[in-house]
Amino acid sequence: MSADLVIRNARVVRHDGEFHGGVAVKDGKIVLTGADSALPKGHREIDAGGRVLMPGVIDPHCHLGVKYPYAEDMRTETAAAASGGVTTALLYIRNLKPSYLPFYEERKALGEENSIIDFGFHFGIQREEHIAEIPEIAAKTGVRSFKCYFGYEPDNPIGIVPATDGWVYAAMRILSKIPGALINVHCENTQIASWMKNEIKATGRQDLGAYTESRPAFCEVETIRRMIFLAERTGCSLHLVHTSVGMGPVLAAEAQARGVHVTVETCQHYLTRTAYDSDLDMRAKISPPLRDKEEQEGLWRGVMNGSVYSLGTDHVPFFPKKLEDLWSELPGVVSFPWELSLMLHFGVHQRGLPLSRLVQLNSANPARRFGLWPRKGNIEVGFDADLVLVDLDEERTVHHTGKGTCIYEGWKLKGWPVLTVSRGAVVYENGEIDESLFGRGRCLSRPS
Ligand SMILES: [Zn+2]
Repeated sequence: MSADLVIRNARVVRHDGEFHGGVAVKDGKIVLTGADSALPKGHREIDAGGRVLMPGVIDPHCHLGVKYPYAEDMRTETAAAASGGVTTALLYIRNLKPSYLPFYEERKALGEENSIIDFGFHFGIQREEHIAEIPEIAAKTGVRSFKCYFGYEPDNPIGIVPATDGWVYAAMRILSKIPGALINVHCENTQIASWMKNEIKATGRQDLGAYTESRPAFCEVETIRRMIFLAERTGCSLHLVHTSVGMGPVLAAEAQARGVHVTVETCQHYLTRTAYDSDLDMRAKISPPLRDKEEQEGLWRGVMNGSVYSLGTDHVPFFPKKLEDLWSELPGVVSFPWELSLMLHFGVHQRGLPLSRLVQLNSANPARRFGLWPRKGNIEVGFDADLVLVDLDEERTVHHTGKGTCIYEGWKLKGWPVLTVSRGAVVYENGEIDESLFGRGRCLSRPS
């Protein structure tokens, strides 16, 4: 047998352990894994030089096409993702029209024309009709992951239509009957946060901490509790996105112990930044907000002990921040190019996070959660050849040139992706994206 691509002499790390050797790839799939001596000749051969080879990162949380055109974002941002070792991006995406079906076809086609990596969707519930349409959407598009947004006031500048408890309950009731379906919830009690915002705004404060204190951790904890209650009541599977509070993983673990299907996502920024970092200002406004050291340590406990299930960036390329007023500034930062590096630096090097645990958080678990297993998320025969080669010792300084706001500028991080393979094609190496491969990415949501 000859292969298209063979990577050898690697420390191959999977969610369940590691071995020395490599992989052989043919027609975009992994056809063999094992010791170097067992691998066939490849049309292209890469000597990993003993570096770490992991499944490509599945980033299940980004927002593309919100402020910049969608087709453009599917080029610029998926390229940024590929440079960060990401081989699958799942988009939380919204449509205000009554049906999601035409929207899906349009976004799938435009995505496949432009993206350099594979992608998929979670649909935001933005009106009552979307709830009734869930079974049809699932059957005709394969999308089984839906999102309800708390945390936004009705007149928010992003144009998000906030959920009601009624919407969540009705959606959960329907989703609980569809195999593999789940609801994702942005958990923050906005009624309390709005009240507190008016109080703090009146003091004239413009520091980032004021924004955080206007929507304190307990607002998020309250909604997490309420969503877990509703998930338990309906039997719906619940995913808590961008969890910023240490109580999130604790409450989820308690609920899991009594049989509730609930999982926790957190983001790299909550693990590496606080609202009180002296170099941060309203540029670092995000939703939910950056918190403090105590919440951060709680999240790290969850990362280390397994009660945080997966990581997502909440990557959102907005226009440059205006820096005029904390309260009207748009929330959102970008993270694709550094998401893996941040975890290697702060997790693996600083806290001793096992690499196999990182693979669980970044690849195996999101694949399982969002219906991509056993196709994505593992280095095993039959899986798509989505791979990232990592140099654990490389030190490089973050310098952001793309869209959106970076909150790590100038940071020297240790551990970087050096080569990314998407379904067998080398999309990133030597610091460059292969621009001939735009439009190679495929939509992963398919009709059942
Ligand atoms: Zn988000």
